[in-house]
Amino acid sequence: MTGRKKKSKLIFYFSFIFRKKTVDFIIMQMITHFLVGIIIQKYLFPIIPFPFNIILILILAFLSHILVDCLARLTYHTPEPQKGDKIWLSWHIIIYVTSFLVFIIFFNPYWLVMIVSILFDIWDWYTLRMIQRHIKKDPNWGKKYFLHPIIDKVRNKFFMWLPDLTYNHKGILVEIVIIISLLCIILFL
Ligand SMILES: [Zn+2]
Repeated sequence: MTGRKKKSKLIFYFSFIFRKKTVDFIIMQMITHFLVGIIIQKYLFPIIPFPFNIILILILAFLSHILVDCLARLTYHTPEPQKGDKIWLSWHIIIYVTSFLVFIIFFNPYWLVMIVSILFDIWDWYTLRMIQRHIKKDPNWGKKYFLHPIIDKVRNKFFMWLPDLTYNHKGILVEIVIIISLLCIILFL
């Protein structure tokens, strides 16, 4: 395979990253949502009577997405792809691989809470965005159905005091610290 073909094949595999081209919201990485969902289940499930524990855990995991995405100002997560930036590309490849690994490692018994913790993203990026791009072929279609603008409103109202590292590579370190802290809570508490 020629170098050019190899490169275009690599871009094809990671095209789901580039598909976020028209996204204008800032969001947190999938792995962070998964870990928060796992913590909610791990520490609340045993102390609340059945079946309320399941209901409460799923509601909290769903809502946790709002809080976690509100904190995204603290992390490096540009609303549009930075294709020429190797750090941006490497970070996204690392984050997708580690998110996948966390999903596999904690699958049993946390698969449902992990899926619920990213329902906002499944709806916006992997359902509406796909319809917008591939079926309707209209970037303006269905804008009113997107959920992340609600999170943007909450962030604008309550979290604008947080330092804005959206375009700052230092935000990667912040997210690594958050991810390691969450992992420590899950593994050692
Ligand atoms: Zn999100």
